[in-house]
Amino acid sequence: MAKNPNIKCSFCDRDKKDAKMLIAGINGHICDVCVAQAFKIISTEADQEQQTFAEEALNLLKPSGIKKFLDDYVIGQDDAKKVISVAVYNHFKRISKSAKVEKDEIEIDKSNLILVGETGTGKTLMARSIAKLLNVPFCIADATVLTEAGYVGEDVESVLTRLLQAADYNVKAAERGIVFIDELDKIARKGDNPSITRDVSGEGVQQGLLKLLEGSIVNVPPQGGRKHPEAKMIQVNTKNILFICGGAFVGIEKIIAKRMNTQAVGYSASLDNEEIDKDNFLQYIIPQDLKSFGLIPELIGRLPVLTYLNPLDAKTLRRILTEPKNALIKQYQYLFEMEGTELEFDEEVLDYIVEKAVEYKLGARGLRSLCEAVMLDIMYDLPSEVKAPKKFTLTLDYAKERLQRSTISRLKAA
Ligand code: ADP
Repeated sequence: MAKNPNIKCSFCDRDKKDAKMLIAGINGHICDVCVAQAFKIISTEADQEQQTFAEEALNLLKPSGIKKFLDDYVIGQDDAKKVISVAVYNHFKRISKSAKVEKDEIEIDKSNLILVGETGTGKTLMARSIAKLLNVPFCIADATVLTEAGYVGEDVESVLTRLLQAADYNVKAAERGIVFIDELDKIARKGDNPSITRDVSGEGVQQGLLKLLEGSIVNVPPQGGRKHPEAKMIQVNTKNILFICGGAFVGIEKIIAKRMNTQAVGYSASLDNEEIDKDNFLQYIIPQDLKSFGLIPELIGRLPVLTYLNPLDAKTLRRILTEPKNALIKQYQYLFEMEGTELEFDEEVLDYIVEKAVEYKLGARGLRSLCEAVMLDIMYDLPSEVKAPKKFTLTLDYAKERLQRSTISRLKAA
């Protein structure tokens, strides 16, 4: 600081002796009062920014519009799409309101979601699509790598490190982001009795997640992990972050069936005069089933929106190949177009790929591996051809032959 006793705050003209502190810049000074005032302006503006963002989203998007957007990317899963659309819409109502009338007595709860469904049915895709629609930072965290603080593994705060990274360390942007926590079922309590040995990767992690989900200010290590203990923590307010959790919850159908006092196999029976679809018990899931599975009630309470995803049948898989905005087949056609070649698939090829995905029990994820196996040779050869053909038609014989030669066909034996 300058020794000159006549120096003043360049912003308010306050004398050095009247200020607690005067900070020197290159061409001027600023006093503690002006620093505090500037900070207030910035934070109010940031709050308003969140509010404006939420209000704009509300103006632009109605639940039906959100669902329509999801329809472009996710095939089927209408129940889940509807539930998610309403949850996201209410999430924005909550942000716009909480920023506007803070002391209003009615507080809208956070609409964090939990999606239950077999692996590969579109849970991540759904969360990612919502983030794309809203143009907010998005990250995926795996619940299985999280452990209670102090144990080998990652602290729950590392989830927010990912979000910060996705937001390029723009804290305000991160604070309205979306976090997808995958494999939540893997941190279920093992067995009903609280174990004598500590359950560091189960109940302890569930407890740890509570503070993230409910909305609080969390100290986040900027680099994640515990490798950089000297790094300065970044404070992140999780109040407006939307958490979407996903899990396969293998075996939960049995819990649902038991609750409904019926068996998981057999013909449809009637309960309270209502037909029960015994092929898909997941549609009857309620929070109580998650508790029976091993999630603690506090965690379930912070994930108030619960929905399910249907297993994908051959018909849906067939649609997934061609219908979504960035469908696999469209992607390959685009790649070929860049080489100047029009790529055409015979209809039977698509049926064949779906048939194999079902046969090998690969689900939607398998469609990609199967297509890759079929396309590898042509994608290898085409770029080196002196004159790329104008058109390439993929026939069933070609696809069969390529697939039989590929490693993926060995899955059949497995
Ligand atoms: P999950 O999170 O349920 O395990 P993902 O969302 O990661 O599954 O889906 C895996 C892949 O399968 C996605 O990249 C997507 O291409 C495809 N997929 C799965 N379900 C659908 C669906 N309903 N509509 C369109 N594509 C889907």
